[in-house]
Amino acid sequence: MLAVAGLFDMHGHISVRDGDTVYINDRGSSRITARPDQVATVRLADGTPIGDREPPSETALHLAIYRARRDAGSVAHFHPRAATAFAVAGRPLIVASNAGAWFGGTIPLYDDPELVRTAALGEAVARSLGAGRAVLLRGHGAVVMGEDIPDCVTAAMFLEESADRLRLAAALGEPREYTADETRRVRAGLVQRSVTLKAWNDAVERARVAGRLDDLD
Ligand SMILES: [Zn+2]
Repeated sequence: MLAVAGLFDMHGHISVRDGDTVYINDRGSSRITARPDQVATVRLADGTPIGDREPPSETALHLAIYRARRDAGSVAHFHPRAATAFAVAGRPLIVASNAGAWFGGTIPLYDDPELVRTAALGEAVARSLGAGRAVLLRGHGAVVMGEDIPDCVTAAMFLEESADRLRLAAALGEPREYTADETRRVRAGLVQRSVTLKAWNDAVERARVAGRLDDLD
């Protein structure tokens, strides 16, 4: 679904936590044809892979966020075009659209471009994320989290939509940043399960129309 949405290219991984176990799409398989048997399993406590599927090299990033955030049920790391452009420019992703307001404020920028392949670097990303829902990785990509997979996918969609709106608006002039009160009021109308499920269902149906779910029940 995230590949069909144009958010995953040859890179990108989404994970889900189930107790002390984390499931994540594996390192080597194409994202556009990912199948259930291409999901890697990792023990959260120490990052040990379970089974024969190799987890992505940046799995440490996911594990660090699960350890830091009890409310994290799903994490995604990817290199979406518009949001990553902000990360490359080192420009903050401010709130100037309703999709941006969903995040409640400016998306922070983690300032180290090195791939997040160690527990220490994962912890540094988790610190940049703080209590938020997304963080940009300078020169690299983005990370979003949610309470479950639909919530995480919704965060991924809204992050890229916000960045894309800002990118287009910047060609017309300086984007008008929302006030804290505007952000709060818009966010109250958007951060609702019904909105999450609408975004999720739309992503499911687009993937189905594209034929990417044909081999699933
Ligand atoms: Zn990456």
